[in-house]
Amino acid sequence: MAEMPMRFKRFRRIRMTEPLRSMVRETELSTNDLIYPLFVVPGKGIRKEVSSMPGVYQLSVDMIVRECAEVQSLGIPAVILFGIPEQKDEVGSGAYDEQGIVQTAIRAIKKDVPGLIVITDVCLCEYTSHGHCGIVRDDQIVNDESVRLLMREALTHAQAGADMVAPSDMFDGRVAAIRSVLDENGFTTLPIMSYAAKYASGFYGPFRDAAESAPKFGDRRSHQMDQSNADEALREVEQDIAEGADIVMVKPALSYLDVIRRVKDRFGMPTAAYNVSGEYSMIKAAGRNGWLDEPRVMMEVLTSIRRAGADMILTYFAKDAAFVLRSR
Ligand SMILES: [Zn+2]
Repeated sequence: MAEMPMRFKRFRRIRMTEPLRSMVRETELSTNDLIYPLFVVPGKGIRKEVSSMPGVYQLSVDMIVRECAEVQSLGIPAVILFGIPEQKDEVGSGAYDEQGIVQTAIRAIKKDVPGLIVITDVCLCEYTSHGHCGIVRDDQIVNDESVRLLMREALTHAQAGADMVAPSDMFDGRVAAIRSVLDENGFTTLPIMSYAAKYASGFYGPFRDAAESAPKFGDRRSHQMDQSNADEALREVEQDIAEGADIVMVKPALSYLDVIRRVKDRFGMPTAAYNVSGEYSMIKAAGRNGWLDEPRVMMEVLTSIRRAGADMILTYFAKDAAFVLRSR
């Protein structure tokens, strides 16, 4: 029998056992990297599953406090809150109402689960009757007027006790505007996580069921980014950093892993990625049909987002992943 030539490298040597594989592992996913999105609705005792997002619920304030206690007990450091108000109107008044749904939820969570980091989504689309992220005039979503409302929204979140605000609108100049209103009101140490490179994406579909925020006409392409552009994402991120963002986010995650990598390499900033609703629901649906090994694919996806350069991941899988990580 002919001898094997020795001109090749045996990569398999370091893959033969799990202890060896764990020694050379480059990327670790930890519960510390996870942020769990939550949807808060008016009422009491409400825990309503979102039909297009199995395992994700709209929760009333009392129920969200319980959920937050569980999230904390799993070692997940942070939640991000989205609110669905009692009433929607043209100018999204519920977003910047001191007694609004998110403001109320923040106070309740900070009282009962004080160690948990409460991040708030800052946008108007859940609060406007037309479902757009800002004020609409002559079928145009206007920038500066909308930003002024986002400033009020962010300030009421801070006053209610939020630990971090996360503007998701993609209007120009909003990070600087929010930074200045926070600073003027004594919240100089409150960080901003900006949705810096947020793309107009079909993967947001299920979220709009959860947040009841689908636009009644038109779409979000006048403010969210075109999927084809990555250089533009770097310009967006650079500007948000210049305006005062402490953490920059790329959203969605999976179809934009290259953007995450470029953002991380270029700026070296704390970088977040949003593993969005469609990315979640696809895996859930396939798992339920027995087409995929759901926990395995979930961990593969979350690890890929970390490997691409994200320091933290906003994900509906946060609790599921924490269970898997705990059992290892
Ligand atoms: Zn929005």
